[in-house]
Amino acid sequence: MARPVAFNINQKPLVEDISVANMPEGYQGEGFFAAKLSDVVGLARKNSIWPLPFATSCCGIEFMATMASHYDLARFGSERVGFSPRQCDLLMVMGTIAKKMAPVVRQVYLQMAEPRWVMAVGACACSGGIFDSYSVLQGIDQVIPVDVYVPGCPPRPEAIIDGVMRIQDLIGKESIRRRNGEQYKHLLESYGIQ
Ligand code: SF4
Repeated sequence: MARPVAFNINQKPLVEDISVANMPEGYQGEGFFAAKLSDVVGLARKNSIWPLPFATSCCGIEFMATMASHYDLARFGSERVGFSPRQCDLLMVMGTIAKKMAPVVRQVYLQMAEPRWVMAVGACACSGGIFDSYSVLQGIDQVIPVDVYVPGCPPRPEAIIDGVMRIQDLIGKESIRRRNGEQYKHLLESYGIQ
């Protein structure tokens, strides 16, 4: 007996489902296109983020769901999850961070090459969450700078994807000079990072 068909009864042509990365603003004519280098680099960077999942508890499970086939983070060019800080540019901290663990998070951050970004996923990573206790770090921004905070306990995969899209926006708009600028230097110095 044939299996009942539950999905794809009204299949759309595949091409309608594919969204193409927007090209940066610029000038074009016959045979040429000129744009700012910063925009082109931003376009490449934002669509090829390599995340490092630093998952310590329940929020990590939501991240697993985000990577799996239903939500499929690969659609955003971020399927290359790595566990070597030297090869990753997005640190995703997901879960409760005990004060004992804080120096480890910081060391992982320091081992990442510039440019690097940080996402705090879930209430625990953002603010300590429900664990207002002597042993839990009340937010990872006490030890490293954070670019995007994703609220929730735990955040659903949709929220994590929203966070990734906000990181993509930041990356796409970031000037290639920012990391050499005074403001960024001061930000790192405020965390005791040279
Ligand atoms: S925010 Fe909630 S779900 Fe996430 S690690 Fe903390 S307690 Fe677990």
